[in-house]
Amino acid sequence: FLEISDLKKSFGEGDSKVQVLKGIDLSVDKGEICVLLGPSGSGKSTLLNIIGGIDSPDSGYVSIDGEKMVDMTEKRLTRYRREHLGYVFQMYNLIPNLNIKENIEVGAYLSDNPLNIDDLLHTLGLYEHRHKLPNQLSGGQQQRTSIGRALVKNPDILLCDEPTGALDYSTSKEILKLIGDVNQKYGNTVIMVTHNDAIKEMADTVVKLRDGKIRKAYRNENKISAEELDW
Ligand code: ATP
Ligand code: MG
Repeated sequence: FLEISDLKKSFGEGDSKVQVLKGIDLSVDKGEICVLLGPSGSGKSTLLNIIGGIDSPDSGYVSIDGEKMVDMTEKRLTRYRREHLGYVFQMYNLIPNLNIKENIEVGAYLSDNPLNIDDLLHTLGLYEHRHKLPNQLSGGQQQRTSIGRALVKNPDILLCDEPTGALDYSTSKEILKLIGDVNQKYGNTVIMVTHNDAIKEMADTVVKLRDGKIRKAYRNENKISAEELDW
């Protein structure tokens, strides 16, 4: 479904040029949860941004359903991002003067086939909070809202960059469980960067980046625990 081939990316010029991705190969099946691990600065966000079409590679490619993103026209790429990709960040970036329901509706903008918002609010556990403003909610509830905003267009691919980075441990576990439930319910392919151990029990594939390369890629067929995985 998603194929990444010999992907390379550098930043900077001349002496200060740094090659962040040094040839990444990865394939992700439809409906899979793929987790990217790796130390700070190892290029996790860079890889996610290239998959999301926010950044472009120096060489190599990402293809989705056989279509290479580098071959898409600007217009096609914009359309692709709008219709098929959802992004969840560490910071929720909700619109402060819109209520929870409206913040989620923003994500359905220009979408042909949005999910039913009330159903989604129930799935997210936000239905009773739908008329509140973001600053009336906890961090976990705000992150649920931002997940809703990414999900409402029912994207093929949900990209999550440390979605629980700003949350405490137990709230983080709840959010990861929610992403797992959503993956089961809607079948979105999830690619997620996280430092939270709890994810390993739901990941189908765990990939570790270091020094610009994939150092380990593990198919977690039995969804075994973090301890057993021994990362
Ligand atoms: P973290 O866990 O801290 O979020 P990361 O694995 O997501 O780290 P990246 O954000 O992908 O790491 O950054 C990888 C390297 O690329 C870092 O050294 C960073 O400084 C550099 N980098 C990323 N984006 C840019 C940019 N737009 N311009 C210059 N350098 C960049
Ligand atoms: Mg990052």
